[in-house]
Amino acid sequence: MSKPDLNCSFCGRPKPETQLLIAGLDAHICDRCINQAHGIVQEETGLEQGTESERIELKPPKEIKAFLDTYVIGQEASKKVLSVAVYNHYKRLLQPTSKEDVEIQKSNVLVVGPTGTGKTLLAQTIARLLNVPLAIVDATVLTEAGYVGEDVESILSRLLQAADYDVNRAQQGIVFIDEIDKIARKSDNPSITRDVSGEGVQQALLKLLEGTVVNVPPKGGRKHPDQKFIEVDTSNILFIAGGAFDGIERHINKRLNLQAIGYKTTVEQNQVDKENMLQYITPRDVRSFGLIPEIIGRLPVLTFMKPLDKETLLEILTAPKNALIKQYIHLFDMDDIKLQFTSGALHYIVEKSIEYKLGARGLRSLCEAVLNDAMFELPNSDVKALKVTKQYAEQKLSKIQLPKLKVVS
Ligand code: ADP
Repeated sequence: MSKPDLNCSFCGRPKPETQLLIAGLDAHICDRCINQAHGIVQEETGLEQGTESERIELKPPKEIKAFLDTYVIGQEASKKVLSVAVYNHYKRLLQPTSKEDVEIQKSNVLVVGPTGTGKTLLAQTIARLLNVPLAIVDATVLTEAGYVGEDVESILSRLLQAADYDVNRAQQGIVFIDEIDKIARKSDNPSITRDVSGEGVQQALLKLLEGTVVNVPPKGGRKHPDQKFIEVDTSNILFIAGGAFDGIERHINKRLNLQAIGYKTTVEQNQVDKENMLQYITPRDVRSFGLIPEIIGRLPVLTFMKPLDKETLLEILTAPKNALIKQYIHLFDMDDIKLQFTSGALHYIVEKSIEYKLGARGLRSLCEAVLNDAMFELPNSDVKALKVTKQYAEQKLSKIQLPKLKVVS
C-alpha cells in the first residue's frame, strides 16, 4: 500500500512522483536525489561522473604479480617487470588532470621469448585482473593502408569489439601485438623492393603506440550501426608487443663478445649462461634484429621469456587456477566420474611434449589424445572412476602419430 503522505526529505517530492523512495531513520530520499548526491560525491572526490576510470581498480605491483602467479607459471622476471609497467601505466591514467605538471610517459612493453612460453597468457591475465578489454592481433596480417591485408587501424576495431563498442572502455584497454618480430626490416633480403609488411607497418604503428586520435571503422557494432567512424584516442591504451625474435641470440652474443673485447664488463664471457641468452637482451639487440629505433623507443619496457623446462611444463599441467588437469577432473566430475592421474602419467605426458617439441600448447593435444576414448565411452556407463597411469597414457598415445600433434603457432 502506498502512503501518499510520504515525501522526499531532500526535494520534498511526494512519493507518487518518485520512482523510488528509500526510508532512513527519520527521513526519506528519492531516486533523483540519490543520483544528484552521487554526482556531488564524485565531483568532490575528483572523479568525473560516468568516467570509466572508476572501473579500473588500481592494484599495487605485488598484488598484480600475485594474481599473475595463479595463472602463469615461472617467468618471474617478466611477471615482475610487467606488474610494475601495468601499475605505472594505470597510475598515469588515473592521475587527476589538474596535477599534470609532471607528464608520465606510457609504459608500453616488448616481450621477447620463444613461442608458447606464455606471452599471450600474460596479456590475457592482466586484462582479466584489471577488467579491461583486450585485443590480440597478429602483426603479420598488418599492412600499410592501401595494400591487401589489414590496416593498422583494424587493431582498434578489434579493441572496440572487445569493449562492446564502449569507446571509453576501449580507450583504457590493452592491445597485445603478437609476432612483432615478423615486421622487422628485412635488410638482408634484396628482392624486396616495396617493403609492404616491414618498415611501412612499423611507421604506421608508431603513432598508435605513442597516442593519437584515430578514426576507426566500427565494423558492425550494434550500438553504432549507422556511424561511419568512431574516434578512438590511443593515449591511454597499453600496448604489449611480443615476438620470438628467432636468432636474436646471435646479436646478443656478438654484442657481449664485443663488450668483452673492448672493456672489462660485468657479464664476463665465461659467466654467460649460453642456454638462456635472452636474459641479457637490450634494446640495442632488438635494433640490430631490425626493429626501427622509433618503435623500440615507444616500447620502453623490455623483458624476456624463458624456454619451458620439464618442471615448468609439469607445473603448467597441474598448478594454475585453470590447469588442464583440473579442467579434465572437473569435466569428468560433471558425469560423476572420479578422474585421477598418477605422477608417472603426468611425467610421461610432459616428456612426450618435450620429445616432440610440442611445448605448453601441445600438452592440451596430448591430454585430449590420452582421454578421448574415456570421454567417449564413460558418460552414462557404470564406470565411476578412472585412474590414468603411465601404461594407460602410453597405450592411448601409441594409437596416434605424435608428430601430427605439432601445433603451429
Ligand atoms: P605465446 O604467446 O608465448 O606464444 P601463449 O601465451 O599463447 O604463448 O601460450 C600457449 C598456451 O600454453 C597457453 O594458453 C597456456 O595454456 C600455456 N602456457 C604457456 N606458457 C605458460 C606458463 N608460463 N604458465 C602457464 N601456462 C602456460
